[in-house]
Amino acid sequence: MPELPEVETVRRQLAPLVVGRRILDGWAHPSPKFSSAPTAAGAVIEDVGRRGKYLLLGLDDDRQLVVHLGMTGQLRVRRGDDVDPYVRAWWALDDGRVLELHDVRRFGRLGVVPVGEYASLPTLAMQGPEPWDEALDAGGLWRATRRSRARIKTQLLSQRPLAGVGNIYADEALWRAGIHPARRSITKPQAERLLAELRAVLDQGIANGGTTLRDYRTPDGEPGRNQLELGCYGRAGEPCARCGTELRRTVIDARGTTFCPDCQRTR
Ligand SMILES: [Zn+2]
Repeated sequence: MPELPEVETVRRQLAPLVVGRRILDGWAHPSPKFSSAPTAAGAVIEDVGRRGKYLLLGLDDDRQLVVHLGMTGQLRVRRGDDVDPYVRAWWALDDGRVLELHDVRRFGRLGVVPVGEYASLPTLAMQGPEPWDEALDAGGLWRATRRSRARIKTQLLSQRPLAGVGNIYADEALWRAGIHPARRSITKPQAERLLAELRAVLDQGIANGGTTLRDYRTPDGEPGRNQLELGCYGRAGEPCARCGTELRRTVIDARGTTFCPDCQRTR
């Protein structure tokens, strides 16, 4: 699933292709997850922003076209009329190109809403601060984790302590911080370490154009390169790069999880 670095990579590539373009026409798959797409017609795309794993295309009529890529969603800009059965929504732009949401498994969704009105997108409305938000510090992260008794990895995936982290970057950051993913509480020094490692793995992911395991592609059709840099995620059975112990795979709250049983202690 695309996480913050993948969505940020899409944002950066998409912006120069669509900013300043007027949407002439739109079409959507009838599912309520996509059906509002045509209502963006007539507006000019002013900017392409991001919040957590959501893309926010600012329109010149005080609305936003909000897109969540789900598991397999890809935003692409193409020329001509390629008929592809997995396109769930498209927008014809005034330069003859077409912006489209291609989504094989249909876990993505979109909305065209007044700026900041996210009642119809509850996971966007309730998510925590951006990882680099100046107001987010280790003390704030620590207090946020203390409000819940859920396991630390599950808390990260909830988007509530901070926005944008999914399975890959949660496993990586917890491994680098030496925190067992099943812990239900962390200390303040651990929160400090965790925040630093979360920022580091997300920065690295962006620098590498995201992580491609299967479906993720940038708008120019290229896979990311960050899968080559992962130290823990997907490496169960291999020796830990830090201590040599065999990395182990387990399931935490229904999510596959890789960790080092030596570096990441439950106590
Ligand atoms: Zn280790």
